[in-house]
Amino acid sequence: MTTAQKETLGFQSEAKQLLHLMIHSLYSNKEIFLRELVSNANDAIDKLRFELLSNTELASVTEELRIRIDVDGDAKTVTITDNGIGMTRDEAISHLGTIAKSGTAQFLDSLTGDQKQDSQLIGQFGVGFYSTFIVADKVVVESRSAKAAKEEAVRWTSEGEAEFEVETIEREEAGTSVTLYLKSDEAEFADGWRIRNIVKKYADHVSVPVVMKQMATEEDKEPEDEVVNSAKALWTRSRSDVSEDEYKEFYKLVSHDFQDPLKWSHNRVEGKLDYTSLLYIPSKASFDLYQRESPRGVKLYVQRVFIMDDAEQFLPLYLRFIRGIVDSNDLSLNVSREILQKDPAIDSMRSALTKRSLDMIEKLADDEEKYQVFWDEFGQVLKEGPAEDFGNREKVAGLLRFATTESASATQNQSLKAYIERMKPEQDKVYYVAAENYHMAANSPHLEIFRKKGLEVILFHDRIDEWLVSHLAEFDGKQFQDVAKGELDLGDLQDTEEKQHQEETEEEFKGLVEKISKLLEENVEEVRMTHRLTESPACLVVSEDDMGMQMRRVLESAGQAVPENKRIFELNPDHPLVQKLNDESDSDRFNDLARVLYDQAQLAEGSQLNEPATYVARLNKLLLELSK
Ligand code: ADP
Repeated sequence: MTTAQKETLGFQSEAKQLLHLMIHSLYSNKEIFLRELVSNANDAIDKLRFELLSNTELASVTEELRIRIDVDGDAKTVTITDNGIGMTRDEAISHLGTIAKSGTAQFLDSLTGDQKQDSQLIGQFGVGFYSTFIVADKVVVESRSAKAAKEEAVRWTSEGEAEFEVETIEREEAGTSVTLYLKSDEAEFADGWRIRNIVKKYADHVSVPVVMKQMATEEDKEPEDEVVNSAKALWTRSRSDVSEDEYKEFYKLVSHDFQDPLKWSHNRVEGKLDYTSLLYIPSKASFDLYQRESPRGVKLYVQRVFIMDDAEQFLPLYLRFIRGIVDSNDLSLNVSREILQKDPAIDSMRSALTKRSLDMIEKLADDEEKYQVFWDEFGQVLKEGPAEDFGNREKVAGLLRFATTESASATQNQSLKAYIERMKPEQDKVYYVAAENYHMAANSPHLEIFRKKGLEVILFHDRIDEWLVSHLAEFDGKQFQDVAKGELDLGDLQDTEEKQHQEETEEEFKGLVEKISKLLEENVEEVRMTHRLTESPACLVVSEDDMGMQMRRVLESAGQAVPENKRIFELNPDHPLVQKLNDESDSDRFNDLARVLYDQAQLAEGSQLNEPATYVARLNKLLLELSK
C-alpha cells in the first residue's frame, strides 16, 4: 500500500500562524494543554458512544471506555490515550493540519502582537490540540478509527513548526494516543503528582474515568491502575455538592473558553418532562458571535449519553452566546436534528430554558460591574430579542441598557425601569432621539426643550436601536416617542402661559411661514413655528407616521430603496435669526438666509447636503455683508 509510505506535509498557513502564536502567547497558561487533550479524548469517547447506538458493527468495542495518562520521567514524555472514535489517516491530516473554523482569517487579522491581549483572543478562539506545543517540542499522535482495520492506523508526528509527517501503522486498539516529548525546561510535567493535580483541577468532572498508574507502591511490585478523577458527570450531582471552582472548570471544559464564566444556572426539572440543564454566561463574546454560520446552542445529552454539539433548537438566536449542556431523560437516544425540529417537547424545553437564561441575566444585573461586562459583550445580541421573541419582549426590554441625557458618557447605561422611575409625574411617554453616533444624539437640536424642562431622553446611537424600538412600541405601559417626529405635544408638561405664547407667535409669524413655504415648496412638506427649540434657529422633523431619519439612513446604507418623504421645517420664533428673517424686506437676502437656515437644520442632525458648495457660497455672501 503506497499510503503506508511516510509523507511530509505542510500545515495550512492559518494553522501555522496559530501554532506560532499559541507557543508564544500562552506561556503563562501552559498547563491547559492537559485540559485540551482530556477534553478531546472525552469528545472522542462521546462520539464513539453515540456511534454505538446505531452502528452494531462497532459492537466489538467491549472494553470499558476510558482515558489513560502515562508519564515517563526518564524519557520526559506524557501520553494521553483514549479508546474513543479515533481518526483515519485522512482525518488526522485534515483535523490536525488545518483549522476548519469559520472566521479563522478574521480572527488572525484581529491579533495585535501584544501578548497579553492576544492570549485572551486565542482563548476566545479556542486553543485545542495545538496547545501541546507550548510544552512539547515534538508530538506524536497514533490513532485508529473505530471504523477501520488495525492495519489502517496512522502515526502523525510534528515538531510544531511548518510541517508534519504521517505514516500508516498497525494498532490493536481503536482510539488515539497523543505523546508529548517535553521541552527540556518543561520536564516538571513528567511527574505523576503534577499531572494528577492538573487532572483534578481541570478534568475531575468529565464523565469518563481518567486512569493512571499508582504512584507509591512497594518495591518490585508492578504498580496498578487507579482512577484519578471522580468520573461523574458534573450536572448529575446536586447543586449543593458542586463548588464554584468545579462549575467554573466544567465551563472551561465544555466551552473551550479559558476565562471564568460570569454566571451559571444549574437546574433539574421533573414532572411532565424530565431533564437537567446547566447554562453559562461567558465573560467574553466568542469572536464569531456575529457570523451567521457560526455554531451555537448547547451540548445535548440523553440519559448521560452525548448526542450532539451545538443543539440550536433549545435556545433562541438572540441567546446564542449561552453555553452549557442539556441532558434529557425523555428523548430517544437516536434523536436527530430533524426530529428535534418537530418534537413538541422541545418547544416547551426551549421556552423553559429561554426563561431560565433570561432570569439568570436578570440576576446578573444585580451586580452592576459584572452586568457592564455582560452588556459590553452581548448587549447588541440581546437587542435582537424583542423582534425574535415576541412573548418575552417585555422581559428582554427590562434587560436592555441605553445611554440617556442623564448619562455622563456613551457607556454609562441606564435601564428602562430606571428611566421610568425618574419620569416627571406629568410625563406619559418614554422620549428618545436616534442618531448616527452618541455625540450626534447627545447634541441633537431636538433635545433643547427637553433639557430646558429637565426631561430625560434616551439617546439611541446603535444602528439597531430604532428598529428595536419599532418592535417594542412600549415598556411598562409607556409608549416610546421619537422627539424628532410629529408635532411636539408635551401634554401636561406645558403650562397655560406657554400655550398662550405659542398661539400668539403663530399669529405673529404667519406671513413668514407662508413666504418660506413658497420658497422651499420643492424641499419640504410643511413649514411651521415650533417651541421645541431654545437655542437653534430651526430643525427638521418627520411626520408622525413616517420612518425615522436614522432608520432611513441605515436602510439606505444597506442598499434598500426607501421612498422619498418630504419633512417638516420648524422655526424657533425666539431666535434672533428667525426674527431677522421675519423683518427682512430684501427678497434676495431673505432667500439666502432662509435657505442657509434650512441647510443648517440638515447639518445639525447629521444629514448630508445635496449641494454643500451652494450652502458655503450663500453663507459666505451673508458673512461678507456682515462685515460691510
Ligand atoms: P477542537 O477540539 O476545538 O475541534 P482541536 O484542535 O483540539 O480542536 O482538535 C481538532 C480536531 O482533531 C478535533 O475536532 C477532532 O476531530 C480531532 N481530534 C483531536 N483529538 C482527538 C482524539 N483524541 N480522538 C479523535 N479525534 C481527535
